[in-house]
Amino acid sequence: MPELPEVESLTAFLGEHLAGRTLERLWPVAVSVLKTYDPPLTALEGRVVTDVRRHGKFLDVTASEVSADGEIGADDLHLVVHLARAGWLRWQDGLPDTPPRPGKGPLALRVRLAGPSGAGFDLTEAGTQKRLAVHCVRDPQDVPGIARLGPDPLDPGFTREAFGRLLAGEQRQLKGVLRDQSVLAGVGNAYSDEVLHAARMSPFKIAAKASDAEVDVLYAALGEVLRSAVERARGVAAGSLKAEKKSGLRVHGRTGQPCPVCGDTVREVSYRDSSLQYCPTCQTGGKPLADRRMSRLLK
Ligand SMILES: [Zn+2]
Repeated sequence: MPELPEVESLTAFLGEHLAGRTLERLWPVAVSVLKTYDPPLTALEGRVVTDVRRHGKFLDVTASEVSADGEIGADDLHLVVHLARAGWLRWQDGLPDTPPRPGKGPLALRVRLAGPSGAGFDLTEAGTQKRLAVHCVRDPQDVPGIARLGPDPLDPGFTREAFGRLLAGEQRQLKGVLRDQSVLAGVGNAYSDEVLHAARMSPFKIAAKASDAEVDVLYAALGEVLRSAVERARGVAAGSLKAEKKSGLRVHGRTGQPCPVCGDTVREVSYRDSSLQYCPTCQTGGKPLADRRMSRLLK
C-alpha cells in the first residue's frame, strides 16, 4: 500500500504533470470506485488543475474554473483519491479518446487531459478486494477519511511535545497507534514496522507506558524513517515507486530474512488480513512475540 512517502512522491509527480492542464474526460471504470455523486465527476471536466496536495495517504487534485483571460474562479472542485491497499497510479503519455471498456481488469479510473497527445493517468487496483476510492468534492474536508485525520508527522508544527500528547493516556499498543490515521496521518502497516524497528521498540508496547526518553527515541525514528523514505521516493517515476519502497524497508515484508542491523531472523505476527514484522534481537529482548497463527500451527 502506498503510504505517506509514496503518496508524497505521487503528489509531486502529479503537481509537475498536471499543473495548468485541463481535465478533459474522467471515466470511472470500476463499479464502486466513485464514492460521491454531488457534484458529479463530470463537473471536473473542462477545469484546470491549479494544485495537487497530500492529506495523509489521500491525493487531492484541485480543479479550478479558468476564464478565457486566465482568471481563476472561486468555486474550486477537488478530485480526491485514496489508493487503498492495492491501488496504483500509472501515467500515460497517449490515451485513446474512446471510453475504456469496463471489465474485470485492474483499471478503476481513467483521467484524460485536453491536448492532442491525450496524456493522462490511470488509477489501477490489483486483486479482488476493490477499495480504491475516488471522491469529487467542493472541499477536501468533505471526505470523511480526511476530516478524521490526525496531524501529519512531517508537518513542521508536529513537535516532540505534540507527539508525546498523542501517546499519553493511549492504552493501545504502539503498532496500532502509529498506523491509526486519526492519531497520525499517513503512516500505515509498512512504515509503522520500520519506525518501531528503527526505535528498537516492541510493536506490542502500550503507548502510554513509553517513558519520556522512549518518546524522544520514537519521535526521532518517526521523522527519520519518513524523511529518508520521502527522499528516496523523490523523483522516482510513478511506475517504479512500488519497487523503490520495497527496497528501502528493513523489516516490513521481510519475514525469515536477516535483520540488516543485527543479523537475527525477522519474524512476523499475523492477523486476519495483515501481518507485522519485527526483529526480536533489536526490539523485544530476543523474545518472539505471541502469534495466533504460529501457535496454532505449532500445537
Ligand atoms: Zn535486528
